[in-house]
Amino acid sequence: MSVAEKIEAAPAPRIAILGAGVAGICMGIKLKQAGFNDFTIYEKAGEIGGTWRENTYPGCSCDVPLHMYQFSFAMEPDWEKKYVRSTDLKTYLERVVDEFGLRPHLSLNTEIDEARFDERAGLWRLKSGDREFEANVFVAGSGQLHHPLYPNIPGREDFKGESWHSAKWNHDYDLAGKHIGVIGTGASAIQFVPEIARTAGKVSMFQRSAAWVLPRPQREFAGWEKALYRVMPPLMKLQRWKVYWQGELLWLTFHKGAEKIKEAAIEAMKEHVTDPEKQAKLTPDYEPGCKRVLFSDEWWPAMARDNVDVITEPVERITENGIRLKDGSEITLDAIVYGTGFDTTHFLGPMKVTGLGGRDLKEAWHDGAQAHYGMGVSGFPNFYMLYGPNTNLGHNSIIFMIECQANYITRLVEKLQEDDLVYLDVKAEAQKRYNDRVQADNENSVFASGCTSWYKTESGRVTNNWANYTFRYWWETRHPDFAEYNSRARLDAGGRNVETGKPASIAAAE
Ligand SMILES: Cc1cc2nc3c(=O)[nH]c(=O)nc-3n(C[C@H](O)[C@H](O)[C@H](O)COP(=O)(O)OP(=O)(O)OC[C@H]3O[C@@H](n4cnc5c(N)ncnc54)[C@H](O)[C@@H]3O)c2cc1C
Repeated sequence: MSVAEKIEAAPAPRIAILGAGVAGICMGIKLKQAGFNDFTIYEKAGEIGGTWRENTYPGCSCDVPLHMYQFSFAMEPDWEKKYVRSTDLKTYLERVVDEFGLRPHLSLNTEIDEARFDERAGLWRLKSGDREFEANVFVAGSGQLHHPLYPNIPGREDFKGESWHSAKWNHDYDLAGKHIGVIGTGASAIQFVPEIARTAGKVSMFQRSAAWVLPRPQREFAGWEKALYRVMPPLMKLQRWKVYWQGELLWLTFHKGAEKIKEAAIEAMKEHVTDPEKQAKLTPDYEPGCKRVLFSDEWWPAMARDNVDVITEPVERITENGIRLKDGSEITLDAIVYGTGFDTTHFLGPMKVTGLGGRDLKEAWHDGAQAHYGMGVSGFPNFYMLYGPNTNLGHNSIIFMIECQANYITRLVEKLQEDDLVYLDVKAEAQKRYNDRVQADNENSVFASGCTSWYKTESGRVTNNWANYTFRYWWETRHPDFAEYNSRARLDAGGRNVETGKPASIAAAE
């Protein structure tokens, strides 16, 4: 039988995708393009979009130029600006879902609470409340920045005013004339503080560490540019390449040209902020890149405003009326906004995942999450993650990484069908070899240069970031190396391995 005939004859795997963000959508499209139609995207919310649906705070936008922050296979010519808002990206993703016919594959309002690999049947069994689903392959695209993190400050419940997290923006609250406290000065705060400072009476920012903020060269596309992109789509690809290599250059700059980043950021600050005390507070004490370098044209003018205060005295507790500082002073506030980011190191959120021999994924990760190329975990057959451990970037677009992963996983699904396998399971030694290298890369990188960041666990292990050029990731994930995988042949009707005649669990233990 030829390979093509074998593929034709073998049953097509059923695939469950978790999450309808950029990752889940990309996975669905890649599967469809490879001819797999038996898949469902389970999404806990009532709409698609992930990050770009959840984050609606004023000023929320993407800081990667849009030619690099859209799918390489679905580039559009009519964007208004170089850096786009979250709402524009949400609308783009809705269009992509329609264009690629993903709507019938969506199961919205379906939060997966539990996933268990049934060894006998060779299937993943997923639970959502009292509903159950099964699939041969389970791909989780639950995002690294999805579960809002609140600061561990006593008294949060005591505050009598309004309070909310930046990812759950309270659009009903009228900021006009109010005194707003902002806790956290990371990527989200950099975007919403300039917006709210225009309306609020006063903004007090409680800052633990300052951010390196570079100018963001925002601009509108001229009509002729859009027309050119429309008639000559390869020009969009060319632009994408340019932005891609600029991103890769940033990685080099973190290590070889950090002084240049510092100079540019300080110059941008001094152009607007003239008060030396404020300048000192807003100057970071760590290397650029250790935490994400941020891009904004509005941050420094906002910091120069008289109604914006930067408070570096540590917070002692939240009180009924505001915030008490370690020096005993209390600041009365009308509302508190938590710009404190996300729980990033507990991948997959509260979902329980059980693999071969009843192995619990959270236990397997007791030292910190890890996965082979951020996707597979040994002992969890046919289970893959998108934007999983060590695949976040500080210098380029996450969409690039997600496309590499969706291609790789599609190839693994094809292999299942070609060889009529029950499952593929990455070998423990392959995962270890890979992870040792990734950890060594991280230890030698700017991420380990001495700051606290969302890239690391409490013990200081970098579980979130890819510490290398992204073309290396692309190169290594172009094709899976099947020698790095264990596999099991299909089972007969009695749950026996068709090759050995033994029950699946015995075969797996061997
Ligand atoms: C404010 C903000 C700005 C950002 N800016 C940039 C940027 O400029 N450049 C960049 O490259 N990246 C940026 N990121 C990172 C961004 O998250 C990724 O680029 C990308 O959106 C990740 O897509 P995803 O599909 O992996 O995850 P998400 O977009 O988080 O989507 C995950 C989806 O899974 C669903 N889900 C989660 N758990 C379950 C469950 N148990 N059952 C069912 N559904 C579930 C969620 O509801 C969600 O829809 C930003 C993130 C944030 C929060």
